[in-house]
Parts: sequence; C-alpha cells; structure tokens
Amino acid sequence: MMRVGIGYDLHRFDSAPGPLKLGGVSIPSTRGLAGHSDADVLLHAIADALLGAIGAPDLGELFPSSSAKYRGMDSRCFVEEAHRRVRAAGWIVGNIDTTVVTDAPTLTPHKQKMRQAISRLLTVPVSAVSVKAKTTEGLAHGAKGIAAHAIVLLNHATPSRRRSRDGR
Ligand SMILES: [Zn+2]
Repeated sequence: MMRVGIGYDLHRFDSAPGPLKLGGVSIPSTRGLAGHSDADVLLHAIADALLGAIGAPDLGELFPSSSAKYRGMDSRCFVEEAHRRVRAAGWIVGNIDTTVVTDAPTLTPHKQKMRQAISRLLTVPVSAVSVKAKTTEGLAHGAKGIAAHAIVLLNHATPSRRRSRDGR
C-alpha cells in the first residue's frame, strides 16, 4: 500500500537582507524571503506534500498566516506536525524528491546540508531525500523569489516497523 503527495510553494524576495532559510538550513544570501513564518519555501512544499498524501488539510489551513501565533515560526515545526499526522494515519515516508527554482543564490554548495536536515526531520536516510536546484535562466520569477516543488511517497507502516519507530 502506497500513497503519493505533491507540494508547491513560492515566496518573493524580501527587500530586507537575509537570512534565507531553505530546507531548515541557513543559506548566505543578500536577500531573504518574505513570509509570515521564516518563509522556508522548501519546507512548506514538503509539508504540503506530506499532508496531501494523507488527504489532510493543507498548510495554509492548518497554520493560517492570519494568526499571529505563527509569525516568524520555524518551518521545521510545520513539517514535524505534518509528519506526526502521517505517522498517526499509519504511514511512513518512503522517499521524498524536491526541486528548488531560483536564479540566486547558487544552491549547489548547500544541497547536501539540506538533504541531511530534511532526512533528520522525516527520520529517513539521506539517500531517501533529494534536493535538486534549477534556475529560470532569468525568465519567470527566478530573480524575484524562490519556488519549490516536492513529491513524497508514503508506505503503509507494518505493525513491527511502527513499533520500532515509536520506540526510538
Ligand atoms: Zn510558504
């Protein structure tokens, strides 16, 4: 038994300088992203992919930006809550594949760190997490912000695997 979920998010660059958070990692950048939380566009896409795979309400519904509670929130909390719901519904993450789209900054030196951070959040091996980077070659939104796509595969947790994970 398997499920898949897809997530997408887009944030524009802030006029103020950094910090830029992507995949739970701080990335040196002359510009940060605008957003109600810490604006981690990649973690938002991942959280929505997880929620989508189990038919749960999306991130905007669970954590409305109209609520002052979530101002400046560390987006790892969103992924942790989505992951908690996934496990509670009887699923475990098989693998996750993501693409980050922006013209700057260059993400190649940071991809491995992002994979590691995401693998820790989702308690899966680094090999089960992919972070790919694309530019728009100056077209579309590439110079104005950062977009992220995520797709996740969930496997049905067998009773023995659930026990060993819960007993961690
Ligand atoms: Zn977002």
